Amino acid sequence: MAMLVVMKAQATEAEIAAVCAHIEQLGYKPHPMPGTQRTAVGITGNQGEAERGNLEELPGVAEVIRVSKPYKLASRDVKSENTVITFPGTDAVIGGTSLAVVAGPCSIESREQAFAIAEQVAASGAQFFRGGAFKPRTSPYAFQGMGLDALRIMAEIRSALGLRIITEAIDNESLEMVEQYADVIQIGARNMQNFSLLKRAGRSRKPVLLKRGMSATLDEFLMAAEYILSEGNYQVALCERGVRTFADHTRNTLDLSIVPAVQRLSHLPILVDPSHGTGKRNKVLPLARAAVAVGADGILVEVHHQPEKALSDGPQSIYPEQFAEMMDQIEQIAPIVHRRVPRGIQVAATVEG
Ligand code: PEP
Ligand code: MN
Repeated sequence: MAMLVVMKAQATEAEIAAVCAHIEQLGYKPHPMPGTQRTAVGITGNQGEAERGNLEELPGVAEVIRVSKPYKLASRDVKSENTVITFPGTDAVIGGTSLAVVAGPCSIESREQAFAIAEQVAASGAQFFRGGAFKPRTSPYAFQGMGLDALRIMAEIRSALGLRIITEAIDNESLEMVEQYADVIQIGARNMQNFSLLKRAGRSRKPVLLKRGMSATLDEFLMAAEYILSEGNYQVALCERGVRTFADHTRNTLDLSIVPAVQRLSHLPILVDPSHGTGKRNKVLPLARAAVAVGADGILVEVHHQPEKALSDGPQSIYPEQFAEMMDQIEQIAPIVHRRVPRGIQVAATVEG
């Protein structure tokens, strides 16, 4: 059973450090989570109930409580305030009042293709650019991605347009490269329960976007996030991308109800991907609108200027003009749920590209 040490509001840094040292001495791992009111220190690494030692007696400790959920660090019991991931030197956030809008092609196919799409989504106000460099394809004969060349192209886009970059890592080797070039590491649906990859992502200093597995329950989804958090990386955002059902009018069934379900249990932000969620271009805008209305923290959409020529996911990629229309629509819906749609990214001149 998980344990949580709740510090007093006036606890000092030194007292928090002493509590962490004490937890380490007991053979467990401390996870200090600062809040606006007070800091809580999660304890992991314990089988069964952690020995309380004399934790409760240490200076600055308010109480030691048991957390009943299997996911502890992802739970609101441990951290009641929403997690907001920031991008230093920019106004972009994932999980704040501003919605995070991530747009770009399924795969980076060439420098020309990537720039053509990036320029158009940037002009419509996207703050994040996505593009696959390492593709987890169902068939080994399908396009597997441009790898490092794609990462270099995205880094150029970041410098030229300011957009923050999100791209998928499919194994430890690609993660090493992705964390050097990108701003956010994506872990795809097919790897949601690749526990060694989740642990590696948990040791990275870059934020992680974790997509829901094709048949993952809410608990499994949060436990996957817990793997990343438990290694010390607390910058995790979730992404609903549809699950497999018997329905065949769409590629997957976009489960929008998971958004309020996650928000009730967890402080982690959650985006919605209506592209993989439906697999059909004509259904992307309606579900993007619904995602904002349901309270998602952002949208991830695939955009392609020539989707008929796309090397992956052309049928679900919207045209840049449709992306512009989507932005206008969600901008109007957002205020109803007390959110706003930022238009473009502000990058401080002192921050490198
Ligand atoms: C993707 O975002 O391009 C992707 C492969 O998504 P998923 O892992 O959700 O299938
Ligand atoms: Mn795709």
